[in-house]
Amino acid sequence: MLLRCPVCQKELIRNGRSALCANGHSFDYAKQGYLNLYLSRGGSHGDSKESVAARTRFLNRGCYSFLKEHLRQLSEQYNHSVTVDLACGEGYYTAALAGDDKYGFDLSKDALKHAAKADPSTAYTVASIFALPFADSNADIVTTCFAPIAKEEIIRILKPGGIFIAVTPAEDHLFELKQVLYEQPYENTVDEIGLPLKDEIRISEVMHLDHEGLMDLFAMTPYFYHTSEKDRRKLDGLDHLDVKASFVIRICQP
Ligand SMILES: [Zn+2]
Repeated sequence: MLLRCPVCQKELIRNGRSALCANGHSFDYAKQGYLNLYLSRGGSHGDSKESVAARTRFLNRGCYSFLKEHLRQLSEQYNHSVTVDLACGEGYYTAALAGDDKYGFDLSKDALKHAAKADPSTAYTVASIFALPFADSNADIVTTCFAPIAKEEIIRILKPGGIFIAVTPAEDHLFELKQVLYEQPYENTVDEIGLPLKDEIRISEVMHLDHEGLMDLFAMTPYFYHTSEKDRRKLDGLDHLDVKASFVIRICQP
């Protein structure tokens, strides 16, 4: 496999319920099937159980399935032997991507428990996307949805000619939700990726959300942590809201 030992960077070989390197470093697979290669001193990292649960409930409503379908088609267009999804979360998009050998990396164990159970064909691994335990120049496609772009690592792991697909919120993504929450809602800024751009695609769809759907959506946004109690209460009385989901998909070839 293409995973590398996080201690000495040697190749990892699977041996039953463990992955071992030639220097004797050993890592056990969790019972759900993911591997933890994050060398932390314990504690929790990545998204919490609560935010994973809210996101899973929201994604299971199918509101973002048009994005998943688009990513599936895109990944099929390109050479897709080895596919790597960075900040894969519960694997909602990862599972749909084309690839004979697929890897998903995330810092959240709670997210990877879901991912590995639902999609045993992908090697889900706990690791920082900025220090990937993954071989150089071996990925055909690397993807990142709604997460920081780990540019150096993306360049390092891609094969020559390989492609990177980044999904970020478009300017008007969830604007109707922000109009409810804030006196002066601002549009998102779409930052440059900083890698040679091959194509840019914009897709959007209006979601008809009931109160529970709205609350689950809110809980998975960054606004959840940056909104005052007073502003949060504005959502309490809302039975339903039409909110536009709007994404920029950029295809880069470093
Ligand atoms: Zn090692």
